[in-house]
Amino acid sequence: MTATQEPTTHSPSIGQSEFERAEARTAHNYHPLPVVLAHAEGAWMTDVDGKRFLDFLAGYSALNFGHGHPALLAAAHAQLDQLTLTSRAFVHDRFADFCAALGDLCGKDMVLPMNTGAEAVETAIKVSRKWGYEVKGVPADQAKIIVASGNFHGRTTTIVGFSDDPDARDGFGPFTPGFVMVPYGDLAALEAAIDATTVAVLIEPIQGEAGVLIPPDGYLRGIRDLCTKNDVLFAADEIQAGLGRTGRTFACDHEDVVPDIYILGKALGGGIVPVSAVVANQDVLGVLRPGQHGSTFGGNPLACAVGLTVVEMLRTGEFQARASELGVLMRERLDALVGNGVVGVRTRGLWAGIDIDPGVGTGRMVCEALMARGVLAKDTHGSTIRFAPPLVVSREDLAWGLDQLADVVSRA
Ligand code: PLP
Repeated sequence: MTATQEPTTHSPSIGQSEFERAEARTAHNYHPLPVVLAHAEGAWMTDVDGKRFLDFLAGYSALNFGHGHPALLAAAHAQLDQLTLTSRAFVHDRFADFCAALGDLCGKDMVLPMNTGAEAVETAIKVSRKWGYEVKGVPADQAKIIVASGNFHGRTTTIVGFSDDPDARDGFGPFTPGFVMVPYGDLAALEAAIDATTVAVLIEPIQGEAGVLIPPDGYLRGIRDLCTKNDVLFAADEIQAGLGRTGRTFACDHEDVVPDIYILGKALGGGIVPVSAVVANQDVLGVLRPGQHGSTFGGNPLACAVGLTVVEMLRTGEFQARASELGVLMRERLDALVGNGVVGVRTRGLWAGIDIDPGVGTGRMVCEALMARGVLAKDTHGSTIRFAPPLVVSREDLAWGLDQLADVVSRA
């Protein structure tokens, strides 16, 4: 090669070119950090250039059990060799075990498996309306569902129609009627919004996307009491908060509250397959009859095999305990940053919303700086970042990741 043929600039890394290739051919409905991942194990991910990153997002809690948990992989591998899809036109041999185990975990009689979180929320909405007409006696097409400000329940047109986030909502109307919004955490407003046509209160026990917003003590208990008093269903969207993340199986457990409808997703699929579910008693889910709701993939054998293993893992209490213990360390470390680049911290279990001092930069800038140091996290609503490491993260790795945040915010 002659001197003139030699490249004058460094060639881009594999990650850089793969990132550009991905961005060029995909709709820009996300703004991903510029990293291209190729492998992961436990709490660590490796990119196409071999650089390692500590996962502080865990797929928005879909990876509560970490990447490639051996028990989950074994269940998936074994099922792949047996039977993967039947549709619900036929019953398969993993269905009863999964539904019974999940129902028992929730203390409910019936389970309706779906795939994504949004589908489970849609399912809960349909079931609540039908229950309202058939059991409560609400006049046809009058059913009302109360939701909270700042909610995030998914991306379908019905769901974004009752969001107050302009990014989620604007440009996607017209929207489905029948939803009333009250301020999150305000029991008096919720009580005032209930009338004879109210069929359900649909809320997140902790609002994840809003920045891990924890309602005032007594809020969930208050909703339970108001719903019972007024013959209204309490539908708790535990898709992001549930299944171990907060140190309890469900976020509602922190107030010893049992909703009428559990809406589950994310971690239920073990980070392997999308698995969601609506779990309730027969007097609620029993309103559905053949042909009124369904899903080709919902409750498929692979999903049930993985979902059953998730339930078995949760039954030990090990992951909930770990979230609590590690959560104490995370809380202490984050509290120490308040006034030092951080203006607010909210945590429950191994889950944190961290409000960055605007003087330090945006949440996105902090996430980019963390990435440069080997920690992957995600910003939300401009100045907040969310930490949700896999519950299998080691104490040392967690502390190291938190050190990186301390360095980033103090150096700004
Ligand atoms: N509900 C809550 C509380 C969520 O956090 C999410 C996703 O972030 C959803 C529903 C929607 O789940 P999915 O993205 O699987 O449709």
